[in-house]
Amino acid sequence: MSKVIVVGAGINGVTAAIELKKRGHKVLLVDPGPLPHPLAASTDISKVVRAAYGADEDYTALAEQATRLWRKWNKEFGAQLYHEVGAMFVRQQQMQPGDFEYESFKILKRRDHKIERVNSTQLWKRFPAWNLELYRDGVLELEAGYVESSRAVSTLIRHAESLGIELREGGRFSRLDEDDHRVKGIVIDDGHRITGNIVVMAVGAWTPYLLPFTKKFFRATGQPVFHLRPRQPELFAPENFPVFGADITTTGYYGFPVNRDGVVKIANHGPGREMSPESPKRVVTPEDERNLREFLSSTFPALADAPIVYSRICMYCDTHDGHFWIARDPEREGLVIAAGDCGHGFKFAPVLGGIIADAVEEKPNQILQKFRWRPNVRAGSGTDVARSRGNL
Ligand SMILES: Cc1cc2nc3c(=O)[nH]c(=O)nc-3n(C[C@H](O)[C@H](O)[C@H](O)COP(=O)(O)OP(=O)(O)OC[C@H]3O[C@@H](n4cnc5c(N)ncnc54)[C@H](O)[C@@H]3O)c2cc1C
Repeated sequence: MSKVIVVGAGINGVTAAIELKKRGHKVLLVDPGPLPHPLAASTDISKVVRAAYGADEDYTALAEQATRLWRKWNKEFGAQLYHEVGAMFVRQQQMQPGDFEYESFKILKRRDHKIERVNSTQLWKRFPAWNLELYRDGVLELEAGYVESSRAVSTLIRHAESLGIELREGGRFSRLDEDDHRVKGIVIDDGHRITGNIVVMAVGAWTPYLLPFTKKFFRATGQPVFHLRPRQPELFAPENFPVFGADITTTGYYGFPVNRDGVVKIANHGPGREMSPESPKRVVTPEDERNLREFLSSTFPALADAPIVYSRICMYCDTHDGHFWIARDPEREGLVIAAGDCGHGFKFAPVLGGIIADAVEEKPNQILQKFRWRPNVRAGSGTDVARSRGNL
């Protein structure tokens, strides 16, 4: 049994803490708070859950496991965190081999998912908010939807505390406490040292700033998110308006049906702007808003002038190849980094803790090969990989 310090209580940190505690470790979870942290990537009303991952079958398989567990969590926690409203990924052109949508369709079909091809006027009529003249083809994944992400993090934090995990809300990691390539614990910003055998850094977009030696591996980028209040909410009800990606690999836009507060969330996944999560530049720009309005007028005319009730810049922690980074540092014994979410990690919450705990315990796990320590991956490849996978 080790004493593990998990730094960061977003979805990676809290799921890792829970799994490590269940495996018998003594666990301390540290975050400046308040939790869920308002600046954390995990903190928002919704995140997409889908198994459509283009040609990348590893993520499809992982999403299948996660989706089953989201259903189980809904029951276990007595709260509907996961809403299985379906997700559609559609194009303005006909799907072609190599497209994210086509490859997703092919793999989901082969793996016996419940899917429909959305390529006839008749089918499009089921989705009246869409500009039917613009979009013509795509895949509707029925066993997909979204999770209420902030609510999921709050639920898991409470669960973590009930399991006896020590939570230090108000603790801000300052640096690693290291000695001769061995991590002995952490130092928090009041200078206080906390000892531990293993430190798991799960600080998302803060990673390259808190661990400057990781700047070579990670890039923190801001992406705009909008919450709108539709004037005709019935058009955006889940049965008429599943989660969507609208030609996601070219427009970057995706979104969610109206929630119980009457809000439709629309966001853009793109190259983003590099910045620290605590930068004063972390605000939506007039250009972001102009781009959104243009997209809405062409795609969802009924949302074109809907009031924006909230907006934020949400931070990805990008890796150069678009894959997560969950690995032990070969140069600092006792350090594990669980980051590099590239904007699509939340859906995997129910399986993330197990993957991170396997990295901590050095247990064989095939997917850890994909998420391994890989300093030689070059800049530039990530955006393409992420685009071919759709992201979000
Ligand atoms: C715009 C946007 C849209 C997304 N959409 C989707 C989606 O639709 N589907 C999906 O599956 N995924 C999505 N994601 C990705 C998902 O949100 C992330 O993969 C996930 O939230 C990352 O969790 P995390 O725990 O790594 O980081 P975070 O949630 O950012 O948590 C990091 C934690 O570290 C803490 N921290 C910071 N500094 C310190 C310090 N000094 N000491 C201690 N703790 C510290 C923070 O307070 C925070 O709580 C999206 C991300 C973004 C930005």
